[in-house]
Amino acid sequence: MTTVITGGSRGIGAATARRLVRDGHKVVISYRQAEDEARALEEELGVLAVRADTADETDVARLFDAAGDDITGVVSNAGITSPSGPLADLRTEDLRRVVDVNLVGAIFVAREAARRMSRGSIVNVSSGAATLGSPGEYVHYAATKAAVDALTIGLAKELAPRGIRVNCVQPGTIRTDIHRLSGEPGRPDRVAARIPLGRPGEAGEIANAIAWLLSDEASYTTGAILRVTGGM
Ligand code: NAD
Repeated sequence: MTTVITGGSRGIGAATARRLVRDGHKVVISYRQAEDEARALEEELGVLAVRADTADETDVARLFDAAGDDITGVVSNAGITSPSGPLADLRTEDLRRVVDVNLVGAIFVAREAARRMSRGSIVNVSSGAATLGSPGEYVHYAATKAAVDALTIGLAKELAPRGIRVNCVQPGTIRTDIHRLSGEPGRPDRVAARIPLGRPGEAGEIANAIAWLLSDEASYTTGAILRVTGGM
């Protein structure tokens, strides 16, 4: 029972690794650059950390090779927002990178999972932005995440006959480094007043939803887009 988590070195991915190890999963995480964070987590949790850029299909294949042949869970979580700003101000190479990581990468991970899994559950991490659009901040990012929702719905139907469930979690504003990386570390607190529950979420609260979708308790849930946004 091995679960692969892409982008597992910090934030939502690392919280999910912690939760799944507690639940008895054997976990393999991928990371792109943060070698120190990944090695620290490897030591703390006894997981395997593999450097793999999800936008590179060879890296994705290598990650799944490292996970072995009993993969029953995949959490496709790696993603980037940066840079942020009104679309008119954004540069082509930055837009392409966001599409490459968030969409092409998610498709590569889904394809590899479809090729290698014979049972189990896949969870894609999209974003509340897919529904809200994130004007003035990152409409390009929102568009990639809406595509991840569509990927979830189609793949759920494609893999259902094989007994593989595919679902998606849309996190709202969660306290992680992603906001620092997009140049606005204070964003979670800035938007808190607009969140019906009155606060940003914590990574562990997304991990709980992912763990449920991976578990047998969600045995009749597939093709679902689960919004975990504090009501946004
Ligand atoms: P984070 O920046 O803390 O962590 C991102 C992880 O993805 C890191 O482990 C990083 O190494 C990895 N990563 C980045 N690019 C990669 C690549 N090309 N290949 C492999 N790994 C790569 O971010 P987070 O907030 O934990 O975000 C996790 C997911 O949740 C992302 O898909 C993000 O879009 C989504 N999300 C986050 C929020 C939020 O407010 N934090 C809201 C909605 C959706």
